[in-house]
Amino acid sequence: MFPPVKSKVNFAQLEENILRLWQDKNVFERSVEARQGAPRFVLYEGPPTANGSPGIHHVLSRVFKDIIPRYKAMKGYYTPRIAGWDTHGLPVELEVERELGFSGKAQIEEYGVDRFNARCRESVFSYLKEWEALTERIAFWIDLKHPYITMDNKYIETGWWTIKQMWDRGLVYQGYKVTPHCPRCGTSLSSHEVALGYEDNVEDPSVYIKFKLVEQSRQKLNLEKPAYFLAWTTTPWTLPGNTALAIADEAEYAIVEYEGEYLILASVRLEPAGLGEAPVVAKVEGSDLVGLGYEPLFNPSDFGIPVEKTGGLEKEGPPSSDVLRKQEDFFNYPVIATDFVSMEDGTGIVHIAPAYGEVDYQAGTEQGLDFVHTVDLQGKVIGNYPFSGLFVKDADPMVLEELKKKNLLFRSETIRHTYPFCWRCEAPLLYYAKQTWYIQTTAVKESLISGNAEINWYPEHIKYGRFGDWLENNVDWAFSRERYWGTPLPVWRCENPECSHLDCVGSLAELENKPGFAGLKEPLDLHRPFVDELTYDCPECGAKMRRVPEVIDCWFDSGAMPVAQYHYPFENDTLLEDGRFPADYISEAVDQTRGWFYSLHAISTLLFSRPCFRNVICLGHILDAKGEKMSKAKGNVVEPWAVINKYGADALRWYFFTSSPPGNVRRFAEKSVAEVTRHFLLTLWNTYSFLVTYANIDHFTPGSEGTLLEESELDRWIISELNQLIIDVDSAMDNYNPTEAGRKIEGFVDGLSNWYVRRSRRRFWKSENDADKLAAYTTLYQCLVTLAKLLAPFTPFLAEELYQNLVCSAFPQAPDSVHLTDFPVADESKIDKRLAADIRLAMKVSSLGRAARSQAGIKVRQPLAVNYVSFSSMSERTALERVKPQVLEELNIKDLQFIDNVGKLSEKSYVISSEGSYSVAVPTEISPELQAEGVAREIVHRLQTMRRSAEFEIADKIITHYQGDDYIKQVITDFADYIKQETLSKKLIEGDPETGAFVAEHEIGGHNLKLGVKRLT
Ligand SMILES: [Zn+2]
Ligand SMILES: [Zn+2]
Repeated sequence: MFPPVKSKVNFAQLEENILRLWQDKNVFERSVEARQGAPRFVLYEGPPTANGSPGIHHVLSRVFKDIIPRYKAMKGYYTPRIAGWDTHGLPVELEVERELGFSGKAQIEEYGVDRFNARCRESVFSYLKEWEALTERIAFWIDLKHPYITMDNKYIETGWWTIKQMWDRGLVYQGYKVTPHCPRCGTSLSSHEVALGYEDNVEDPSVYIKFKLVEQSRQKLNLEKPAYFLAWTTTPWTLPGNTALAIADEAEYAIVEYEGEYLILASVRLEPAGLGEAPVVAKVEGSDLVGLGYEPLFNPSDFGIPVEKTGGLEKEGPPSSDVLRKQEDFFNYPVIATDFVSMEDGTGIVHIAPAYGEVDYQAGTEQGLDFVHTVDLQGKVIGNYPFSGLFVKDADPMVLEELKKKNLLFRSETIRHTYPFCWRCEAPLLYYAKQTWYIQTTAVKESLISGNAEINWYPEHIKYGRFGDWLENNVDWAFSRERYWGTPLPVWRCENPECSHLDCVGSLAELENKPGFAGLKEPLDLHRPFVDELTYDCPECGAKMRRVPEVIDCWFDSGAMPVAQYHYPFENDTLLEDGRFPADYISEAVDQTRGWFYSLHAISTLLFSRPCFRNVICLGHILDAKGEKMSKAKGNVVEPWAVINKYGADALRWYFFTSSPPGNVRRFAEKSVAEVTRHFLLTLWNTYSFLVTYANIDHFTPGSEGTLLEESELDRWIISELNQLIIDVDSAMDNYNPTEAGRKIEGFVDGLSNWYVRRSRRRFWKSENDADKLAAYTTLYQCLVTLAKLLAPFTPFLAEELYQNLVCSAFPQAPDSVHLTDFPVADESKIDKRLAADIRLAMKVSSLGRAARSQAGIKVRQPLAVNYVSFSSMSERTALERVKPQVLEELNIKDLQFIDNVGKLSEKSYVISSEGSYSVAVPTEISPELQAEGVAREIVHRLQTMRRSAEFEIADKIITHYQGDDYIKQVITDFADYIKQETLSKKLIEGDPETGAFVAEHEIGGHNLKLGVKRLT
């Protein structure tokens, strides 16, 4: 006997029980340990940032991380899986800033870096608990007891070692460059972080500014009235920093007269600038303009702003604080020629502010332009402008106001365009010239690209699309952050400004062995501010070496996990040879092409000149049901616990695996999870419950099949399909395609339930225990046990439930969890392709016949004389002949005839349903005999419904009483045997029902009928 299974099931509750079973029996650990010595299959866990509660998108990536290793474990691989937590960086700091109500670095410094970092550590730990709970509940099997944590001293030490390897090869440098800077967070961002935060349709000013030619230049052009260069910008706040105008030297420029003045701009831009009507006074070549001068819009000396030369900013050797050279004379800013002036927008004259643009800075360096910084690192205007102290974006209108007063504003509009924002805090990024530490990834660009060629991307287009493009356009990695909670940059600098010697430290031991080393406190903490206290003697001049203030990008931490999780090379020094590197598989969402996928690939290439992952499933983003981005502000965030508690984790998993290919953007709607439950999980559950219920009635014991008599065609068919399914699922999973594998399983379960079981019902029903019945049980049992194993990586809970009940209860010596079993192996000799095609044909014709019936308004319970079916070839006709008996039963018809063209049938007497090359014709006229048979079938159906309503057991025998008119009486008399057999009625008696009977009145085809059923005791 199997433990009984109810047809109603609460999956969430069932799963909680299974979780306890796994814990009690240590199933995960054993599933790994059992494969010791076998070839390894390595998953790298992309560490989630523990700075908030896990969301529904985390469930998506975590179940995809889970399914492949589960499959590989069942295929015999040794698959230890190590959890990891990304604990550093801006995300955590911002979370703590929010908690403390801080809005910037000044408050953190005031509060104390030690206290602030202690809060960061605490915050991370509180979220880890939530993450662990969800990870367990969704059955993401990964070792949570021994995770790698990026804030551990050992992890940091490997980070230092990694940086030192690059430093020693000259790949780490400090550059004075224009970098994307978040004014709120007060730090630079790397280009991959910038890529995460672009927003479309941002409104900004679009303004045309007049730059007045100096007297000499105006005379040079023989102009008698005041003349202006016209330039265009979307960032008015950069105008006070303007120190040059750029033109294209081969383009044609026009001098036009406008309101008594002259304006100069590219001829092709006259029209767009609204000057198409203005009279052209002269035309000149761009090269004629080079070297002309104009007056500064805002003379820096009038506003207390120092002026330096851009070219003096970068110098050889260690950087120091006095790189900016003072300059006294100016007022005559030049027109220069560059190759980046576009004729697609603006005026063909580009405003240059070397402090606030990458190409501007470059032009400044090349041409020795003045360098004017008018904004501080918080994005606030410095000096004594009327708009000083304002955040740059707020200063924009006042800058324009000032220019208008000076008659230097030509036109002011707004524009909608794409602009980068901080991916963490959403502040607009400013391009800002400052010193930042870089890793020279461009030095290994070719190696990054060739390494990518070895990686299998799913979906494939990411490889040379999003990821490949990213590598092709590689720029050096700006990896320092002017922040607090992160892996400290292991660079020490000599305090003596005359020396400024720089040194990179690759391990704690190296640091401790430095001459004059001091400042170490117990317990060891390699974070700020403690690490900032560690000093030693400068080998060059003997002065004190102090660490530079920066910490590093948290993406560097997570990208270093292949080595850092093992504290390589300080421990586990065989890592590269023993199979733990590279990973066989990783999976994250598509945004990680510029995040973790990149940082992993870059660090591995820099360290070892090879990629560190072989296969990657790249997941699409999740939107809400309407296709909008989920956000707390919109209130459309889906809480994973709510979904899991309602439908169970299996339903959510199955939905994620099968609803759409992993790379697609998906819209998440709770009702889709409900649908998946109904369509798939409950269909399977009902089949399972059916088997257990009937098997218990018949005392079927698996393993007793012994010598089976010849199987029926139906059994041969489903076993053939089952073996084909094993092959299909195995090959899809081997190809990292759970979606295809899952859909195959879904198709099989549908065929099992709606064809095999339905068409076999009679075999399970009949009273005698013969070979045919045993064959049916054995076949269905085999299907469900195999399904449990195939489903184990997909829906681990339901698979376990089936396995525990069907296998463990009957075979005490079997592995005690489905997750300890081997993946099924197909018996190809059982695959009968012709039979499979035949049944597909039978299904097709039956479904067309049912469609025609419903069109004609004739129930399937009403027998019909003859249907016609078309065929297009003789081989098809033969196949139809073979499946004819099944179609007769399915369609409840007496005969099926073949016709080469159903169009020949009279339209009056037939309803025709067609699809592709098939047509089925159903007659609309029904003889009195068939009508009576239809009524008999309807009575059986009503009685069966009454049995269920009366809550009789399936095998209960009953007595049935009936009352009706002569027609009904005649039908019941004629079909008495049939009715008795189908409804397990021992007797069929005309007259009043017995007391205690379940009674109901019916109307069938215009005839009234009263029925009473009573259980025989
Ligand atoms: Zn920010
Ligand atoms: Zn020194």
